[in-house]
Amino acid sequence: MKFGGTSVADLSKIRNVAKRVKQEADAGNQVSVFVSAMAGTTDQLVGWVEEISPLHDAREYDTVVSAGEQITAGLLALTLQDLGVPARSWLGWQIPVRTNQVHSAARIEEIGTEEVVKRMEDGVVCIMAGFQGISEDNRITTLGRGGTDTSAVALAAALGADRCDIYTDVEGVYTADPRIVPGARKLEKVTYEEMLEMASLGAKVLQTRSVAMAMNHKVRVQVLSSFTNKPGTMVVDEDEIVEKQVVSGIAYAKNEAKVTLVGVKNTPGIASDIFLLLADGNINVDMIIQNETEDGRKTDLTFTVVANDIDKAKDILAGAQNIDFDTVLTDINVVKISVIGVGMRSHAGVAATMFKTLADKGINIQVISTSEIKISVLIEAEYTELAVRALHTAYGLDAA
Ligand code: ASP
Ligand code: MG
Repeated sequence: MKFGGTSVADLSKIRNVAKRVKQEADAGNQVSVFVSAMAGTTDQLVGWVEEISPLHDAREYDTVVSAGEQITAGLLALTLQDLGVPARSWLGWQIPVRTNQVHSAARIEEIGTEEVVKRMEDGVVCIMAGFQGISEDNRITTLGRGGTDTSAVALAAALGADRCDIYTDVEGVYTADPRIVPGARKLEKVTYEEMLEMASLGAKVLQTRSVAMAMNHKVRVQVLSSFTNKPGTMVVDEDEIVEKQVVSGIAYAKNEAKVTLVGVKNTPGIASDIFLLLADGNINVDMIIQNETEDGRKTDLTFTVVANDIDKAKDILAGAQNIDFDTVLTDINVVKISVIGVGMRSHAGVAATMFKTLADKGINIQVISTSEIKISVLIEAEYTELAVRALHTAYGLDAA
């Protein structure tokens, strides 16, 4: 079981979580639990670090921001004990969750199960601090924001658990963000691949890495609410889904920015020069389009980056002596809208429906990118709600 920040936001919510854990244990299950920090705590810790040291040392950042999970792990263990459930807490280094040394975005390399297995066999519920690990040189690391999902899936994989239940404040994975699409429906099942696209395309319910890990190790993940008693959404292998949806969800990501290099000299190697420079600056590029001028001597090159990286990208390109282009234009007033579904592999016309739906609403498409199971377009940010709602209807996803 994993409980996110909103599920452990205060003491009464921690008591509620303890009752849920007790129910599982009383049902005869061996249970281990990962907890996040109380909602808002990690943000506050990050804020303190940034305020006291804008160019902070990443190792000390991890020392500070990992602290929230320690508190909830201990509090939950105490609450369970008071309910008569034998419970004990562990921090990342005690388990241990071994990671690489990439502080603030560390990857799990290995996770110890010996102690957890032994304690669970003795009837103890193991409560663990999520989001944190220990590097080769014995420093505390953290797994990136939202990393407790990955802690939980990693342990479930290592244990060969029957299930990994991720408790949050929504009832599951929806066909679209219910805050902007009133007719959005909870999905009963979604495939790993779809979930991976949804997570990386803006649906924030699971950390992307946790989905990749669940997919690689075939961990059955359930996303459900800790505030209601309803079954959530199962994230499963494609074979488990009989009726494959052509489109199972619409996602949007506002954290995008568009860069256009106008009049780039059209010679072999120019794209590699540009993208190598950006890669060296650690800038992730997402959508890309390129168009030659009629005479073939120049091209315009447009791509998107994470909005926070836009100034850095501009600086890098402005300082690039060896790259021949006329001007660089940027736009942060954009949003990426994606339609996702494994069924589109075997269906024609999915893109046409998307483009027609947007055209009918007078929405201009600036950039397009596709994979086997998704189509993404970049549009002006002010049309986000309109586009998501119209697409939700166009693909027949609205609740009856
Ligand atoms: N507390 C961490 C965060 O807010 C990790 C997590 O909640 O998964 O990002
Ligand atoms: Mg989360």
